[in-house]
Amino acid sequence: MRRVSIFGATGSIGQSTIDLIRRAPQDYDVVALTGGRNIAQLARDAIDLKVDIAVTAHDNLLPDLRAALDGSGIEAAAGPAAIEDAASRPADWIMSAIVGAAGLLPGLRALEQGTTLALANKESLVTAGPLLMATAKTHGATVLPVDSEHSGVFQALVGEDIAAVERVIITASGGAFRDTPMEQLANATLSEASSHPNWNMGQRITIDSASMFNKALELIETKEFFSISPDQIEVLVHPQSLVHALVGFRDGGIMAHLGPADMRHAIGYALHWPKRGEVPVDRLDLARVGSLDFRAPDLARYPALRLARDVMEAGGLTGAAFNAAKERALDGFIEGDLGFLQMADVVEAVLDQLCRDENLASEEINLDNVRRVDHLARKRAEDVIRGKQG
Ligand code: NAD
Ligand code: MG
Repeated sequence: MRRVSIFGATGSIGQSTIDLIRRAPQDYDVVALTGGRNIAQLARDAIDLKVDIAVTAHDNLLPDLRAALDGSGIEAAAGPAAIEDAASRPADWIMSAIVGAAGLLPGLRALEQGTTLALANKESLVTAGPLLMATAKTHGATVLPVDSEHSGVFQALVGEDIAAVERVIITASGGAFRDTPMEQLANATLSEASSHPNWNMGQRITIDSASMFNKALELIETKEFFSISPDQIEVLVHPQSLVHALVGFRDGGIMAHLGPADMRHAIGYALHWPKRGEVPVDRLDLARVGSLDFRAPDLARYPALRLARDVMEAGGLTGAAFNAAKERALDGFIEGDLGFLQMADVVEAVLDQLCRDENLASEEINLDNVRRVDHLARKRAEDVIRGKQG
């Protein structure tokens, strides 16, 4: 029996992880589940999986969670500190699927216990990649990528020497607006931006896919996870979302990773690693697919990709500023305070300010500095948003 915990259990990745675990209940002893406002879902899964502890991120929902778990013998807790504590509970495999920088601290706590961390939470790598990877090293922990592109790269690298890698290409579907004329993007609505042509995901990453901020985060994630130089990392638009990543080697050969657009493949790979297990995703029928299309991304259309290049170049705490400004700008779009294209304007303005006023590139990447820069970038983003409204 393997002890597993799932952070962000009520979300899209969390639910797909639970789906896999439910198919082989005899193999897993589920220690902790965490969620947000969806107490009914959290309690249902906690009872069904007979977990030790269920935690909601929201202190005020503790009475609701307690009531929903009444009589089950399952411990209930609430708040960010309780989520961190849950990440310190011994487990052999921990899924990090909280959305946003809120996933960083639980991820670090999990690594400190030397566990295997299945990392869907790309924001923690963007915010504090060197800190996360160093913590894993110090504590003998393993980090496995769950983002589909990074899982694809990871799989293509099995048995290979990273020194023989010439380039890594991650693909992008192009998101909701890949065929929308540029002049219509300024007026794109929340509901239009929240529907993805290929993947079924949480709302925030779906909107980030439409703006390519998701791919921007993934460029930085690639750099941090695989420790390769930014100029070796490329993005290719691939509307079918069947090739997730390609790794080009020194001898001119390329290994491509293909699979259906179903996150249970990447989650299942991380769950069964280093072996391969049975995963119930559709099998690709390439004769039916017929053709796979690729094109270079249009940088004028996707300023997020240009900003990601600047962030990778600058390094240090620039990623923390970038992610936080992006999260705040995304809130602004979701709340109706910003237009779709204004999100990138806000992020760029905040990066310009902070690169001028702070030593983002040279300051140490420790938790205090990361938190300070994260806070500052959100505050600056808020000011820029207010300025745009006024
Ligand atoms: P989601 O919005 O569906 O779920 C997010 C989960 O995090 C929920 O359980 C929610 O309750 C919890 N949560 C939200 N804010 C929190 C906070 N402040 N503190 C604690 N918990 C909080 O998101 P998702 O689509 O499942 O994505 C999760 C992570 O995985 C993200 O980092 C995303 O970028 C990454 N990812 C997702 C997909 C996908 O297919 N959905 C693919 C690749 C990577
Ligand atoms: Mg991805």
